[in-house]
Amino acid sequence: MKSAPIVVIGGGVIGTSIAYHLARRNLRVILLERGDLAAGSSGACDGLVFLQSKKPGIHLELAMQSRRRFEELARRLPVPFEFKATGGMVLIETESELAAMEQFVQAQQQIGLDVALLDAARLRRLEPHLSEHLLGATHSPMDGQVNPMALTLGFALGARAMGARLITGGPVRGIEITGGRVSAVITGAGRIETEVVVNAAGAHAPDIGSMVGLVIPIKPRRGQIIVTEACPRMIRHCMISAKYIAAKFNPEIARGNGEGISIEQTENGNFLLGSTREFVGYDRRTTTGGLRTIAAQTGAILPALARTNVIRSFAGLRPYTPDGLPILGPVAEVPGFIMAAGHEGDGIALSPVTGELIAQLIATGKSDIALDAFQLSRFKNANHTTEAAHG
Ligand SMILES: Cc1cc2nc3c(=O)[nH]c(=O)nc-3n(C[C@H](O)[C@H](O)[C@H](O)COP(=O)(O)OP(=O)(O)OC[C@H]3O[C@@H](n4cnc5c(N)ncnc54)[C@H](O)[C@@H]3O)c2cc1C
Repeated sequence: MKSAPIVVIGGGVIGTSIAYHLARRNLRVILLERGDLAAGSSGACDGLVFLQSKKPGIHLELAMQSRRRFEELARRLPVPFEFKATGGMVLIETESELAAMEQFVQAQQQIGLDVALLDAARLRRLEPHLSEHLLGATHSPMDGQVNPMALTLGFALGARAMGARLITGGPVRGIEITGGRVSAVITGAGRIETEVVVNAAGAHAPDIGSMVGLVIPIKPRRGQIIVTEACPRMIRHCMISAKYIAAKFNPEIARGNGEGISIEQTENGNFLLGSTREFVGYDRRTTTGGLRTIAAQTGAILPALARTNVIRSFAGLRPYTPDGLPILGPVAEVPGFIMAAGHEGDGIALSPVTGELIAQLIATGKSDIALDAFQLSRFKNANHTTEAAHG
């Protein structure tokens, strides 16, 4: 039988970041991952660290706090995770997108984001390979990109070097409650006594929640990605389309207008072209329809892609929540149970600040950014028992 004061469930970018930040505070932690590190969404995604895609308010504030930590992490983590402050662009194709982005940018500027609207001529000077039909773009020098698998591995190995124990290759099967609070985690290999369990199981966080009778309203939202062969540098910024912002925040607007795309050229030169947003349960397959849509839309924006070979495709499951914000912090009904999941399409960008805030909370009982807006209890009926909610 093993024991540790804290057990983190999930070896994605969120669980490993939490383990890393706990270990930095000299707290003893065991991380449990059912497959391998980055086996979930963190190993099947883009690596955009985008601020411009966040709604002004608490979400953008969280993202800005997270972004500030990447330079230091690039120096500290034992794995080079290809962080580049490339700057990012939101590409505008129609007059209605232009009007929407003008407003979005103003709201972002008001809370201190360094972002500006570029007209078509300036856009073309910065990115000459983009299609001539684009009306302009918003640009922020603060956006960047990373290699998400390397970041996850960096957090994990950094945590291990400071004493964290990482156990992969077996799922958590149950959580014991004694005297009303968390007391142990059950795995195939035995029982681990603990006082604190962190649920960082991404799209599978509801399974972990149901082990303590909670209903967690996270759903898998599939995203498909095309990977091309490595090419000479064709774009300098990471990019999303204004449609992507519509698709993210208002699926109704997006429906008639496509999914919205992202284009990123990795350090190696490969393009990652994404991505769909689909509710298809836990199905991680790619589809010809999804891949065709991505190819057509990214090809229209960057015509040179037509001469580039595709080498593979994959799909990941974003941990979606109904209001687009992650679920972070303690759950009053189950003392010792802490939520850290539901980052949807932003988990890579938000991983540094999430790890730091959850570690602060466990170590001191409070966090620099109040987690009130992120509580599970914000979802009405969400913290009923599983049976009651299903009934
Ligand atoms: C197509 C696509 C593109 C994306 N692009 C971006 C982007 O550009 N920028 C960005 O910031 N974010 C992006 N995201 C979102 C990002 O990938 C996620 O928000 C992030 O990876 C979530 O991390 P996580 O650690 O919460 O979940 P995961 O990485 O899924 O980790 C959860 C882990 O828990 C494990 N687990 C589950 N059940 C159990 C159990 N019973 N016992 C033990 N372990 C268990 C799983 O195996 C998994 O490894 C994208 C996602 C997709 C799908």
